[in-house]
Amino acid sequence: MLEWSFFCCLFFVVTSCSILVDHNQKVLAPMWNHNIQMLNMDELQKVKIRTAANLIKSVVTSEEFKKQILNHTYNGQKAFKDNKGLSNLEIYTIIQEGAETLSPEKNSTMDVEIELFHEKTTTIGYTYPHTGRVWMNTKYFDRYTPILVADNLMHEWMHKLGFEHEFKWSRHREHSVPYAVGYLIKKLSKQHLHSK
Ligand SMILES: [Zn+2]
Repeated sequence: MLEWSFFCCLFFVVTSCSILVDHNQKVLAPMWNHNIQMLNMDELQKVKIRTAANLIKSVVTSEEFKKQILNHTYNGQKAFKDNKGLSNLEIYTIIQEGAETLSPEKNSTMDVEIELFHEKTTTIGYTYPHTGRVWMNTKYFDRYTPILVADNLMHEWMHKLGFEHEFKWSRHREHSVPYAVGYLIKKLSKQHLHSK
């Protein structure tokens, strides 16, 4: 079993209904949503999660998100690292379909449970393949803006959709689907907020 299975994102530092894509790659039903169960949180923490999830929704349903996913470049090619042999369009479609490995219905919904914990380590968040739950460390969560939480949440959800990345840092790792899509959520969330 791969290392991330046990401690995915251990050092994650720096740091909608089914969608149809026709032969012209046109989005026909962009009804994407989130369904998040929140555990071990007070009201303020829940508000931050909801704000982050709504930012993700705004970005994932935008034309700009589609454009940037389709044009993501790695090693001189329009591709992601650790892409499971999938094209950028196929990855975009998987995000829109929202079919988690453990909940494979194509319901265009981010189905996830989030539980907070506190630990004086550099662990920001983690998950395991056998659960729909992700854990977030309040050491970071409580000082993070909703945009940073959105980045982290999207990263973890990409694991729920079956994407992985190298355990150790490398300059290539940021092109893996979880890292690259998380960073894209962060970048486009900032633009979304500034355009308001
Ligand atoms: Zn990860």
